[in-house]
Amino acid sequence: MTAAVRYELIKTCKQSGARLGKLHTPHGVIETPVFMPVGTLATVKTMSPEELKEIGAGIILSNTYHLWLRPGHEIVREAGGLHQFMNWDRAILTDSGGFQVFSLSDLREITEEGVHFRNHLSGEKLFLSPEGAMEIQNALGSDIMMAFDECPPYPAEFEYMKASVERTTRWAERCLNAHKRPEDQALFGIVQGGEYEELRKLSAESLVSLDFPGYAIGGLSVGEPKDIMNRVLEFTTPLLPQNKPRYLMGVGSPDSLIDGAIRGVDMFDCVLPTRIARNGTCMTSKGRLVVRNAKYAHDYRPLDEHCDCYACKNYSRAYIRHLVKCNETFGFRLTSYHNLYFLVNLMEQVKQAIREDRLLDFRNEFFEQYGFNKPDAKNF
Ligand SMILES: [Zn+2]
Repeated sequence: MTAAVRYELIKTCKQSGARLGKLHTPHGVIETPVFMPVGTLATVKTMSPEELKEIGAGIILSNTYHLWLRPGHEIVREAGGLHQFMNWDRAILTDSGGFQVFSLSDLREITEEGVHFRNHLSGEKLFLSPEGAMEIQNALGSDIMMAFDECPPYPAEFEYMKASVERTTRWAERCLNAHKRPEDQALFGIVQGGEYEELRKLSAESLVSLDFPGYAIGGLSVGEPKDIMNRVLEFTTPLLPQNKPRYLMGVGSPDSLIDGAIRGVDMFDCVLPTRIARNGTCMTSKGRLVVRNAKYAHDYRPLDEHCDCYACKNYSRAYIRHLVKCNETFGFRLTSYHNLYFLVNLMEQVKQAIREDRLLDFRNEFFEQYGFNKPDAKNF
């Protein structure tokens, strides 16, 4: 059977080893490396699907856990699936709910069968298993679904992590067996193992033997220093098949997108650009800009003088600062639009640099301009 999602490697950057590719999905072809905006509750906060298309987003992520609680996956199924429900005809990836179960709820109990926990909204007792996560994602009808995994906190002891990795592999197999729509939904496995090379190897090898159409690298960007994340990527991506996509979960700061691509990652997602936008923080070609700050009160320049997005073409820092300070929705729309445009555009530049075999040079230029090379560099 042909997989619902297929990865085509176009070229490898001679300077960095980064991959330029195409992801063929039932809802369009996406060039990679790609950044996927996050639409937690079937909406990328403040953005319409038309605006997402205008920006150039070809795939977005939505959260299984949140849609399971509200409005409930049966309502989405009844609507004809998530694409129909939210009026988005491009690709959608759903996570498994695992990360939220582990990060949002306390009082959880992990058993071989699944996880018992309390609903973070109502306190009601709930249970999620690999089979449950598949049933919900089959109802949502996303193009890419994720296997239900355990995402242990950082740092975790080796012995705990080993037991967790082994259970995550058993759960991945159960996910494959429970998946009802492999012809139009691709199920990705998630490599875990924390910072331990031996465990990443164990996880990757056992998942690769199950032959998923794609692989995610989970358990990163959970509080570990960036050099640890980069080191884990360096020894993990070579364990994954060349002809399948690799997805680094929960990563969206500009430097990490470039550093991930250099280490052979094809897909990224993060709430970062939209979350900080609602705080009045912007990503610009010169670094982080907190438009809320008093120094922008009389600044009539755009958020980013090198950006040609809708927000930058039409509105000033002073105006956006005023809106954000007054909690005006339009202000958050403008900062969200700009930040997403910035990351989508950054990935365009990364792809161009791969085409020209100069991604390491591009990294140096970008880091220099962004200010990452300065001792007082502010990251996200
Ligand atoms: Zn802009």
